[in-house]
Amino acid sequence: MKKIVLKNLFGLLVAVVGLLCLHEASASTLKKSDIEQIFSHQYTVGELNPNVPVWPLFLKSATDANTKPTLFGYAFESVDFEPVRGYGGKPINILVAIDTQGNFLESKLISHREPLFRSEVGIAKLTEFAAQYKGLSIHHDIQLYDHKAKTSRDDKNAALHGVQAGTVTVKAIDRTILQSATSVALAHQEAAKTGNIVGAGNAIALSKGQINETQIRSLHPAELEWRGMVQISQITRGQIEKAFIGTRAVGADKLAAKSPDDIALQFHVALVSLPAIGRNILDDEGWRLVAANRRDSHALMVIESGPLAKMMYESQRIADDVPFVLKQNGKTIGLRSIAYDKGVKVPGYPTQTRAHFLIIDTATPLDPTQPFNLTFKLGRRFGTFPNQKAYVEFPLPYYFHGWRQVVSNYLDADWVGTWIKRSGEIATLLIALTLLSIALIRQHKLTATTKRLKQFRVGFLLFTLIGIGWIFQGQLSIVNITAAIDSIASGNDLSFFLTDPITVILWIFVGFTLFIWGRGTFCGWLCPFGAFQELVSKSMRFIGLRHKRIRPSIDRKLKWIKYILLVSLLSMLFISPSTTEIGVEVEPFKTAISLYFVRDWPYVLWAVTCLSLSVVVYRGYCRYICPLGAALAAFNPLRKWGWIARRTECGTPCQTCRSRCDYQAIDQVGKISYSECFQCMDCVAIYQDKKQCLPLVKEIKRQHIVIQIHAVTGNL
Ligand code: SF4
Ligand code: SF4
Repeated sequence: MKKIVLKNLFGLLVAVVGLLCLHEASASTLKKSDIEQIFSHQYTVGELNPNVPVWPLFLKSATDANTKPTLFGYAFESVDFEPVRGYGGKPINILVAIDTQGNFLESKLISHREPLFRSEVGIAKLTEFAAQYKGLSIHHDIQLYDHKAKTSRDDKNAALHGVQAGTVTVKAIDRTILQSATSVALAHQEAAKTGNIVGAGNAIALSKGQINETQIRSLHPAELEWRGMVQISQITRGQIEKAFIGTRAVGADKLAAKSPDDIALQFHVALVSLPAIGRNILDDEGWRLVAANRRDSHALMVIESGPLAKMMYESQRIADDVPFVLKQNGKTIGLRSIAYDKGVKVPGYPTQTRAHFLIIDTATPLDPTQPFNLTFKLGRRFGTFPNQKAYVEFPLPYYFHGWRQVVSNYLDADWVGTWIKRSGEIATLLIALTLLSIALIRQHKLTATTKRLKQFRVGFLLFTLIGIGWIFQGQLSIVNITAAIDSIASGNDLSFFLTDPITVILWIFVGFTLFIWGRGTFCGWLCPFGAFQELVSKSMRFIGLRHKRIRPSIDRKLKWIKYILLVSLLSMLFISPSTTEIGVEVEPFKTAISLYFVRDWPYVLWAVTCLSLSVVVYRGYCRYICPLGAALAAFNPLRKWGWIARRTECGTPCQTCRSRCDYQAIDQVGKISYSECFQCMDCVAIYQDKKQCLPLVKEIKRQHIVIQIHAVTGNL
C-alpha cells in the first residue's frame, strides 16, 4: 500500500511540473510614474520605447523649457533584457539607469524571490549590494568578493563586497545588471550610428542579444596559446634549405649550413575575427581596422618574426603580398591581405614582426568551426634573369575549432570562474565523497569493530557539519527542488545552479547514490543539519540523557507528516508560489547552517526547537518533519539493492538490530524500511559481531560445546 502511495508521489511531481508549464515567467512591472518618482528631479522621463523596453531620460533645460530635450540616458528593468535566475529559481529584477556612455546612474533592487533574503534585513543587504554599481560603468572590470571585503574602485576596475551566504544571488544580480546595461548600450550605439536615437524622433533600432564585447574575458598570451586561439609554428634555416633541394634556388642561405637549427621564421596565427581572440590581441585601432575591412566575413592574423620576416634580398625571400594559401574541405579560400604591424597589444610577442590581416573573400566563406589548412609559401629568385623563381610550402597548423572552441566557451562562462576560485573546496569535497564511497562499498571492513565504525562516523559527521555546512555552505535544501521544478516548468534550464559548485556536486552524488543505497547516504552522512542533530543526540547520550523510542504505531503515523509537508509545498508552488516561499522555512537549514543562527528570532527559535527535538527523539526533525528527506525517500521504489544483510533469525526471534536502530527503521519481523534507514551501519556491525548477533553467539556457543565434548571424548 505504502509503495503504491510513494509511487504516486512521482505522478504528483510530474503533474505539478505540468501544471507549472502554464505559469508564465514574470516580466517588467514598473510604470512611467514609478520611473518619474525616482528621476524626475534630475531628468525628464520620456515614453516607454515601443521596440526596446527602456524609458529615455532627457536633460532638463535650466533656461528654456521649450528647448528640444537632450537625451542623457535610459532607465530600464534588467529582467526585460537578462532575466537571470537566482538561488530561488526566479529572475531577480533591478531598475538600472545608464547614461549614453554606459555609466550607471542608478541600480536599484525591485524584486527577487531569493529564499534567504526575504526578510527586511535580507532585502536591505541585496539592495545595498546592487547600489554599488552606481557610479561604475559597463566598461569597468568588476570583481566580486565576500561580504567582509573592502570595496574599491578606480577608472577601470572595481572590487565590490558580496553578501553573506548569497554567492549565487549576488552573481545573478551582477549578471543581470551588466548584461542588460550592455544590451541597452549596444542598442543605443547602433541607433546613434543610423541616426535613430530616441529624442531625434525615432526608436532605438537594435534589440537585445548582441555580442557583448565589453564583457570579453581578458586572456594572458600563455592562455591564448594554451586554448589554441593563437598557434605558433617555427621554420628553421635547415628546413628551408632542405625544401629547396632539387631547385636552382638551393644554397641561397649561407648560414643554413653553419646553423641549420636556427629559427628563420616564427608564425603566430590567430582567427582574429572571433571577438574572444581579436579583442585580446589587437588594440582598439587594430580591432576597428579588422572590423571595417572584414564586415561580415572572417579574418586571420599571421604575425611573422625572425630573421626572414623582413628580409630584403629576394634571393632568400620574395616579398609576396599574400604569401599564404588557405583551404577548407579541399577548396581554396580567397584571401585579401592588409598590412598592419602596430597595435598588437599582447605583451611578449616578438617586436621584429610583420603582421598580415588575411580577410576572407565573401565569395568563398570560411566556416570557423571547422578545420582548415593554412600554408605559408616561400619564394626565392635565382639565376641571372630576375623572373626565375622557386617556391616551397610550409603548413601553419591552426586547431581552434570543434571541441577546442566548445571548451574555450565553457571556460569563459561565469560559473567556471567560480569553480576555479573554489577549487580547494571542490577538491576537499571530492576526496571526502571518494572516502565515503569506499567506506560504504567496503562496509564489512568499516563495521569490523563497533569502535572503528563509531570513530569514522563521528569524524565524518563533524566534517559534514563544519566543512560541508558552515564552511563550504553546501546544505542541500527543498528550495533546490522547488527552484528546479519552477525553472524547468517556465521553459528554462538548471544552469543557474552552476554558480554553486558544492551544491551541484552534492546533488550529482546524491542522485547517483539514491539508486544504490537510497536516501540514507545523504541523510545519514552528508546533510549538515542532519549531522548537527545526530551530534547533539550523541552528546546528550554521552552525558547520560537518553532519547525516547516512539511507539511503533505512533511512529508510523508521524512519519507521514513529512510527506504531507512535501506534497503541500509542491502543490503550493503552482497554486501560490509565495506561500511555498514561506512554507520552505519549515527547513531550519538556512538559519542553522547558512546564516550561523544570525537571523530574526522566530527563525532561530524554530531551528533551536528542531535541534532540541533530537534530544528527546533521535533525529526527530529528519524522521517526521523534513520535506527534503521525504522527497529523497520518495525515490526509494527505484532503489533495487537491499544492501543490509539479514538472517532468517532476524525478527524471529532476534530483535537486537531492531532495538538498536535509533531511527526505528527495522520492523518487528526484521524487515528494513530503506526509506527510513539513515545508513548508520549499526545493524551491519551487529550482524557480524560474534558478541552481539544472537545467531552468531549461539553458533559460537554450540561450536564451543562441540570442542569441549571432543576434548572430553579425546581424553577418555
Ligand atoms: S531528513 Fe532532512 S534534515 Fe534529516 S538528514 Fe535528511 S535532509 Fe537532512
Ligand atoms: S541500524 Fe541499520 S536499518 Fe537502522 S538506520 Fe542504521 S543501517 Fe539503517
